[in-house]
Amino acid sequence: MKIFHTDSFPITLPEDHRFPITKYALLRKRITDSNRFKPQDLIISRAASAAEITRVHDPDYLRRVQNGELTAREIRRIGLPWSPGLVERARRSAGATVEACFAALDDGVAVHLGGGTHHAFKDQGQGYCVFNDSVIAARALQAETYIRHVFILDCDVHQGNGTAAISRNDPAIFTFSIHGKNNFPYHKEKSDLDIALDDGAGNQIYLDALHTGLTESLRQAKAELVIYLAGADPYADDRFGRLALSKEGLAERDRVVFQYCHEAGLPVAVTMAGGYAPNIEDTVDIHFQTVLIASQFQNRS
Ligand SMILES: [Zn+2]
Repeated sequence: MKIFHTDSFPITLPEDHRFPITKYALLRKRITDSNRFKPQDLIISRAASAAEITRVHDPDYLRRVQNGELTAREIRRIGLPWSPGLVERARRSAGATVEACFAALDDGVAVHLGGGTHHAFKDQGQGYCVFNDSVIAARALQAETYIRHVFILDCDVHQGNGTAAISRNDPAIFTFSIHGKNNFPYHKEKSDLDIALDDGAGNQIYLDALHTGLTESLRQAKAELVIYLAGADPYADDRFGRLALSKEGLAERDRVVFQYCHEAGLPVAVTMAGGYAPNIEDTVDIHFQTVLIASQFQNRS
């Protein structure tokens, strides 16, 4: 299974910043140390091209990101300080999701150890997201392969508002977001299917809703490929999550997702999306189990 990563392109953050930037390198180390994956399958991603990015984002927004011309307000909305390193990382991260999608077409499953930047809109970033990697990847597939219909399955605990807004009038992209009702973003956009869960929802409520949502989505989406945002932030201990899933509940979530996609014969590209547990090792545990479960389904396909 191909595993794409970008953590060797650092973003410099102030020491007290809340974004858990170290989780990406820790996750890659966990994968390497496990000896379960071939070293040659861990791949440094290329950067997304301007042509790929502007299938989704305004050329003017890309230009201003690139040149450091965002306003102070726009940078505050993103929540990460601008630097040339941030631009490189954001472009690599979008590129990694594109590459994971193409690899999934060959291998059934592929993973990007980051991505899931679903709060990025056409002309602005938000909530730690600069470019919308999922939609960039979906449109790259549509432009360069036989794939016409892509299903973006967003299990990050926050609504995929940017993805929903960009894909709103795009019948070739089906969006399903299952998230916490009272979480950021406080103004929700309309996905093709939204399931909003109350604070404190645990494994059973979540998994029941997921079954319902997956059945309905796969019926409607006419999907040929799935981009799965496997956020670690529905975890009970997550700082921003408000839900109450256990690690085992999140493993079951992953198994359910891969089982449905496997039965529907769909390739799956996985991105990690959010995860803000106070103990960063908890977030790494959850992402790592997603990678392991993904690889089990690759062997099956
Ligand atoms: Zn999130």
